[in-house]
Amino acid sequence: MTRASVRVIPLGGVGEIGKNATVIETKTDLLLIDAGVKFPEEEMLGVDLVIPDFSYVLDNLHRLRGILLTHSHEDHTGAIPYLLQQAGRRLPIFGSRLTLGLLREKLREQKVEHLAALEEVTAGERRRFGVFEVEFMGVSHSVPDSLALIIRTPIGVFFHTGDWKFDDTPIQGYVTDVEHLRALGDAGVLALMSDCVRVEVPGRTPSERVVAEALATIFASAPGRILVSTFASNVTRLVEVIQLAHQHGRKVAAVGRAMEQTIRVAGELGYLPPLPGVLVDLDQIRRLPPRQVALLVSGSQGEPTSALARIAANDHPVIRLRKDDTVVLSATPIPGNEETVGQTIDNLFRRGARVIYRAVMENVHVSGHASRDELRYLIELLRPRFCLPLHGEYRMMVLYRDLAATAGVPPERTCLAEIGEVVEFTPQSVRKVGRVKAGAVLVDGLTVGRVTHVVLRDRRRLAEEGIIIAAVAVDRETGRVVGGPELAARGFVHADLEGLLERAKREILKTLNGRRPRGEAEYGYLVGKIKESLGRLIFSETRRHPLILPLVTEV
Ligand SMILES: [Zn+2]
Ligand SMILES: [Zn+2]
Repeated sequence: MTRASVRVIPLGGVGEIGKNATVIETKTDLLLIDAGVKFPEEEMLGVDLVIPDFSYVLDNLHRLRGILLTHSHEDHTGAIPYLLQQAGRRLPIFGSRLTLGLLREKLREQKVEHLAALEEVTAGERRRFGVFEVEFMGVSHSVPDSLALIIRTPIGVFFHTGDWKFDDTPIQGYVTDVEHLRALGDAGVLALMSDCVRVEVPGRTPSERVVAEALATIFASAPGRILVSTFASNVTRLVEVIQLAHQHGRKVAAVGRAMEQTIRVAGELGYLPPLPGVLVDLDQIRRLPPRQVALLVSGSQGEPTSALARIAANDHPVIRLRKDDTVVLSATPIPGNEETVGQTIDNLFRRGARVIYRAVMENVHVSGHASRDELRYLIELLRPRFCLPLHGEYRMMVLYRDLAATAGVPPERTCLAEIGEVVEFTPQSVRKVGRVKAGAVLVDGLTVGRVTHVVLRDRRRLAEEGIIIAAVAVDRETGRVVGGPELAARGFVHADLEGLLERAKREILKTLNGRRPRGEAEYGYLVGKIKESLGRLIFSETRRHPLILPLVTEV
């Protein structure tokens, strides 16, 4: 790295939706922008979360001047507890009040609060981090207190948008300041790192105001209870519901842990409207007539154990749906969740409720991200020399490059980086100069990184093909079978299972009592032999590959 260069390394969030994390560094100083999670894909059975591989940051902690959080969404902050755990020492984390307030809650839960030195920053504030000077700029998004980063470096200004859109009439939070952006453009911007997730959508994203209006028509006409489900982290949406409930003489209760937590923290930090008596406990709500009830429900993504899915399945301990209930899904499924969300909606209809989702009333949700025209307008305002699209699938990054070309940034000046690629900027050039260790780490319950592709393959086979357990006792000296084999099958279906298992027993006996290398019976050898012979027999008879679990006891 030469003195007059700055390097940017996306550790996540490029070529994918989720786990946003970007390094910006010079020879002496390093900043990590966001550290988010991604929800597992369907084939990652039993995996709870996916986080970025932070090896590069962990190897360079001596240069780390700060972790800067743009806003409170999970895809930007969710990996912080794991990063702290891995670092095993106190790291400085900067973010707005709401971002840090919600983060503190998660750190406490995971018992890593002592590893975080949290420092609050406000919009408009400037801070120095080694050679970098960062100005935090308020932007419109679906959570209040969202920040873009204006990073002044020795070679020029880098603008990192965070998640943003232009919204001249936000319900809460900042208006993305066009004049400030224009002034930055006048002064000169070297590189624009922009969220590109909605580049496929033409026009402009509607204001959050239209959602408030759509919800208002629902509140004006609903005959019974109103249940609104949205991302618990979308604080602004919660504010709209609480205000409307107040106007229409309803009380509001949270249903589901995520929702309860956000409402409590956002309330404590002053992000909810000061309307005493509107928010009540779920217990109190049971005694009210339906027309005076509104519920904020977790689980807009159809997560099977969430409050909404349980209500839809008639399996919730407190809430039973009734015919005059109105259920509002104020969200869109994130890619991959369409099917489970669809099933939840089906089930809600089956309970007889009126269900309002985007297909029924479009404005019941709007995105917090800039669409095509806004993305182009930002480029026109900032007039950057280089662009680096972030926060999008690869196709979106390509479309962003095309869009930037129409706004005056030639295609060769827009860099499409994959995870771990090192992008080096000088005042005159951008190029990829290498790759660092990076990728995905799977989190399974409390263990980080121990779920490998082998584990996933086993789980897949268990789920799809079942398991056959073969227990056998062998003589320690001779290796001959002295007990069993006993075979048991679970989740494995075959027309003549008994006959098959009988033949499998004979096959195992034949294998184990047949020719073996001389010397004492070796455990691993026996297990391998059983797997091999049993697997071959079962596949030849059934064309199936169940998981085979040999239990060998030496006596
Ligand atoms: Zn966001
Ligand atoms: Zn995001």
